[in-house]
Amino acid sequence: MMGRAQVISEQLQRVLTRIARAAQAAGRDPATVQLLAVSKTFPVADLRAAMMAGQWCFGESYLNEALPKLATLTDPAPEWHFIGPLQSNKTRAIAEQFAWVHSLASLKHAERLNEQRPVDLPPLNVCLQVNISGEASKSGVTLDALPALATAVAVLPCLRLRGLMAIPAPSTDPDAQRAAFRAVRHAFEALQAQGLALDTLSMGMTDDLEAAIAEGATIVRVGSAIFGARES
Ligand SMILES: *Cc1c(COP(=O)(O)O)cnc(C)c1O
Repeated sequence: MMGRAQVISEQLQRVLTRIARAAQAAGRDPATVQLLAVSKTFPVADLRAAMMAGQWCFGESYLNEALPKLATLTDPAPEWHFIGPLQSNKTRAIAEQFAWVHSLASLKHAERLNEQRPVDLPPLNVCLQVNISGEASKSGVTLDALPALATAVAVLPCLRLRGLMAIPAPSTDPDAQRAAFRAVRHAFEALQAQGLALDTLSMGMTDDLEAAIAEGATIVRVGSAIFGARES
């Protein structure tokens, strides 16, 4: 019987193969698409197994669940990305302990993260979460409000605005998946045309990573294809 670590290692390899094939199909270099392993609800032993298999970046959605994992996995420490909804009373620990935040959607939270980021650390990498029409979760900045927020966040010295993140409404129709990701890419390109130096499109999960890569994703956030189904 295969052990849990071997299952995770094999599933991780399968996801990396999916990413490589999707990139090649889109005429892109597979090295331009990074895999963020979404480890929410899974135990430290599963993250260790993924690390042993070569995975280095992990996404967590709930700070209270994440902090014990961060405290345990220190030698070596992986790169931690916060991808869940932000709350003002949680920003300090995120600013102090994470390398990335994908779910920034307000100037208030941006200013708190900027003030709370320790000055001896590199700037906190941030993506603005955009709420494209039909998005399943209500969080995220609207496309109308995006340019002003991006301009304001870009000047905060302890943050580094890297790009956009989105969670489109789930769809099994590849054309609908692509249309949603294309809207995010167009917003991203419009910000670049305004002069913002952005390099990150965080989009695509277990069920739609191929469509996201076809539309330019540079980080795909994948949980269940690596670790298995989550209990809800
Ligand atoms: C849970 C989660 C994911 C991973 O979803 P899967 O379908 O398990 O791949 C990606 N992004 C965010 C923001 C999540 O909360």
